[in-house]
Amino acid sequence: MRRYFGFIVIIALALIIFLGKNNSDAQDTEGVKINIFNVNKGKFAKVSKIVSDKGKLRKTLTEEQFHITQEQGTEPAYTGKLLKNKKTGVYQCVVCKTDLFSSDAKYDSGTGWPSFWKPVADENVGTKEDRSLFMRRVEVHCPVCGSHLGHIFDDGPAPTGKRFCINSAALTFEAMEENDENQ
Ligand SMILES: [Zn+2]
Repeated sequence: MRRYFGFIVIIALALIIFLGKNNSDAQDTEGVKINIFNVNKGKFAKVSKIVSDKGKLRKTLTEEQFHITQEQGTEPAYTGKLLKNKKTGVYQCVVCKTDLFSSDAKYDSGTGWPSFWKPVADENVGTKEDRSLFMRRVEVHCPVCGSHLGHIFDDGPAPTGKRFCINSAALTFEAMEENDENQ
């Protein structure tokens, strides 16, 4: 019996260490504050990362918005509501309203998806390698809530040469008044 006792103690210790580590990991991601640029305020602010409640999102988002942002979906080309939007303003994450792209950086790429050559700040988008569909692409997501937005390609216009190919359904548009005439 004594032999087994030592064995059980080791297993118990291993479990405690394992569970403790998992707990601290969870706290690390939830409590993390990141620097995000706020277009309205014209400056960076610390924002807490959000872990979205998928049950709630199913009720607040449309089926298409949920599929694209939470299940890495892609809307069919030329179907997005914001594809031809030429108004001045800011494109935000449809889930958490983080500022993502300015109308200044939007251009017609001819691909059928809203395209931007840069985000409002590098900090305002998250990226990771995506090897699905037998391709090697760079996936782009909201750094605050993790929602999938689209992909980045290297065939964009100068000066960045990047094309942020974004699903219209992952975005919401906040129009801004143009003050150019008064200046
Ligand atoms: Zn978001």
